[in-house]
Amino acid sequence: MKEIWELSRIPVRFIRGVGPKNAEKLSKLDIHFIHDLFFHLPVGYQNRSKITPLNRIEPGQYQSFIVRLGELRELRTKNGRKVVNAEAYDDYGRLELAWFTFPRYLKALLEPHKEYLIFGKTDFYRGRVQMTHPEITPYDPETSLPDHLLPLYPLTAGITHAYLRKIIKTVFNDYEEYLREFYPPEITAALSLPGLKEAFYRLHFPREEKEAQEARNRLAFDELFFFNLIMERRKAEKERIRKAPYRITPENRARFIKALPFTLTESQNKVIGEIEENLSGDRLMYRLLQGDVGCGKTVVAAYALYCAVANGQQGAYMAPTGVLARQHYETLSAYLDPLGIDTVLITGGMSRSAKEAAHEEIRTGKARVIIGTHALLYDKVEFEKLDMVIIDEQHKFGVAQRKSLQLKGTMPHYLIMTATPIPRTTLMAWFGDVDVSSITAMPAGRGEIKTVLRETSAREKIYQFAEKELQEGRQAYAVYPLVEDSDKMDLRSAETMFQRISKRFGPSQVALLHGKMKAEEKTDVLQAFKKKRVKFLVTTTVIEVGIDVPDATIMIIEHPERFGLAQLHQLRGRIGRGPYSSYCILLTEPSLSESAAERLQKFAHTLDGFEIAEIDLSYRGGGEILGLRQHGGLMMKIARFPGDKGLYKKSKALIKDHRLSAVDFEKGADFFFPARQEAE
Ligand code: ADP
Ligand code: MG
Repeated sequence: MKEIWELSRIPVRFIRGVGPKNAEKLSKLDIHFIHDLFFHLPVGYQNRSKITPLNRIEPGQYQSFIVRLGELRELRTKNGRKVVNAEAYDDYGRLELAWFTFPRYLKALLEPHKEYLIFGKTDFYRGRVQMTHPEITPYDPETSLPDHLLPLYPLTAGITHAYLRKIIKTVFNDYEEYLREFYPPEITAALSLPGLKEAFYRLHFPREEKEAQEARNRLAFDELFFFNLIMERRKAEKERIRKAPYRITPENRARFIKALPFTLTESQNKVIGEIEENLSGDRLMYRLLQGDVGCGKTVVAAYALYCAVANGQQGAYMAPTGVLARQHYETLSAYLDPLGIDTVLITGGMSRSAKEAAHEEIRTGKARVIIGTHALLYDKVEFEKLDMVIIDEQHKFGVAQRKSLQLKGTMPHYLIMTATPIPRTTLMAWFGDVDVSSITAMPAGRGEIKTVLRETSAREKIYQFAEKELQEGRQAYAVYPLVEDSDKMDLRSAETMFQRISKRFGPSQVALLHGKMKAEEKTDVLQAFKKKRVKFLVTTTVIEVGIDVPDATIMIIEHPERFGLAQLHQLRGRIGRGPYSSYCILLTEPSLSESAAERLQKFAHTLDGFEIAEIDLSYRGGGEILGLRQHGGLMMKIARFPGDKGLYKKSKALIKDHRLSAVDFEKGADFFFPARQEAE
């Protein structure tokens, strides 16, 4: 029998009319499986039956017109591209139509002075209003106008609205049997919302806005329903796990703190208390540690590891990159060595013999704390007694990776650290039942960070300023969006600017660091920068997370509008780590758009990560929350908070009243939250 979840596994190239080329294009819209096509939500609807006279054109809007055509003309644009033009007119005005690729069937279809229905978005082109690649059909008052509203989709190059509509209709035809209702009648009755098939169809092709709304509500309900079922299952699983309580004495804690090179902040102490309390009980710790860049999360992690080791266990610390793993290895050893705790580093770049030696130490239990990257997940790494897992900058990890680490111990405690503030509902969606600790204050004695926008014409002045800082023993970063120059984008790249900056500052002072370099090279460069053999690091976003060089006070970011604000915030977090005043300089082009400038100004005016996340959201819309979407977990595609709280509660109540469990609804659950996403 055909089952709904299978739609999450059938690739779009199996749809009639979708060839490999179009499948490739669809993948740019994140449409890989039939399932994704159902969830490719319209951003709005167009009433195609509403005809606009040509004196009422609104450039930038999708509109329908009934027009007659003048002669077709074949021209060439300035840069030699072929273009077919035609003038469209009605009793009220004119509009230029243009095709850069002119399909043969159109040539046969279009005749001067006959009536056509056209639909599309108009734009200004050299002072005239133009519509490129209109959807055009001969106008017949009986049949031309559709009986439903037309969905407007997010598009990509080569994928048109007409094409998406066509294949979605094909899917409804050919895969109809998969869309069987999965609720028992008592639930459908309680819902008074459209059925499953109807809902999906009307989400894409509603006859009126209200119908789209009801369809959306039904599917949002489904999403929340399955979300709740899955969460309950996860919670039940977690509750079943019992842990042997750790014994943590005040002497333990005092010993750890005494060995530190600084005094913990109040905020750090509070979090350490929360962790202690958690570990002294018989429940699993599954805790998220939030705290802005530079607030000092690492030492808290060190304490959690220390607690595990003091209780005869091993701990593991996972960093997103080899460079960071090495850095954390150094920091953590500095904290833990004085306490007689053996640490070991494992990275992909290590030699085989070094790796084997490390594996041996981990297996026998000589190494108590293991620091590494994904290499930690490779099967060869066997732990003696793993009971504490720290995951740093978790947004760089997929869910599957977390799972496989979990299997290595007997369900270890978890501390997941992030500098990216995550809204509560997203947290729930991602981790389920998670406890949250927050570090809310920065260590005292930090220098101030100033952020400014400067145009590239001020480059030399900025370099002079940087030079002065370097002479005083400070260090600088310059960050570029690209590693090397590209024909496609007119942007300065790290490699090219490395040449230029080397010349300006003297080659011995400047180094280049980017993601395409080999692991050892990266480590060497970073080491040289940390040890101040190099003072100016020209780089890309590889330095985005975690790198800690307290004397760095200058951060020059070129083409800053190319970066998300959260990313800029991470980059800026690389400076201001010592007692000196620091400067983040966003170097912009004169051509910077007004809205981009406004966004960067807002960024310049705050250092608060939460506020920045909110500004970022307001510019990007609610679609993708902080870039978490692609990382699996249970992200909502349709339901939104707080708007859908009512549906959320209703789904919870129904589950409770009817004593429903995830087991009864595997198929539906797997459709709304396909396992393949978690496996990414
Ligand atoms: P993040 O939270 O971004 O991971 P880190 O743990 O890397 O921050 O800490 C940033 C810097 O602050 C490090 O150089 C660390 O040694 C220092 N630091 C951490 N806690 C304190 C403290 N209580 N007092 C002074 N410096 C601290
Ligand atoms: Mg960190």
